[in-house]
Amino acid sequence: MRHTLPGVAVLPLLFLDVDGPLLPFGGDIAHHGPDHANPLLARLDPMHGPWLAALPCELVWATTWMDDANDLLVPLLGLPRLPVVTWQDDREAETADARRGLHWKTRGLAAWAGGRPFAWVDDEIGENDRAWTARHHPQALLHRVDPRRGLTDTDYLALDAWLRARQPC
Ligand SMILES: [Mg+2]
Repeated sequence: MRHTLPGVAVLPLLFLDVDGPLLPFGGDIAHHGPDHANPLLARLDPMHGPWLAALPCELVWATTWMDDANDLLVPLLGLPRLPVVTWQDDREAETADARRGLHWKTRGLAAWAGGRPFAWVDDEIGENDRAWTARHHPQALLHRVDPRRGLTDTDYLALDAWLRARQPC
């Protein structure tokens, strides 16, 4: 978890899921580049690297790929290694959140962000996650991506507009 001193100018965060937003799944997926040891990686469009790098934010992995996102995806995307969100292994809290219809990432991302505005890009965001986050961390954009297509131009435009409106002065 990170905390930011009040008044310190920092970029908004962008928490990035991998399966769905960067690695779409479904019947009709375009394949990019050579064969990889992990066949999922053939679904990665390397152009996501420059598109993500152009967003005015600090990128953070928020994915079950954990450090594999840095080891396997970052070289293909041409990005620097990114911070990785880790979640506490708290079965009781997870069960309570699941009962309330909250995604298992939701509470941890708000905690990790501390006082910083954040966008969260994921294909599993639901209405309960939006409602909970609106109450507990109002400076957040929960942006759901269609996992059949992954991040599209429309998604990037929406994220860019939201992030630009939350730049430090
Ligand atoms: Mg996903």
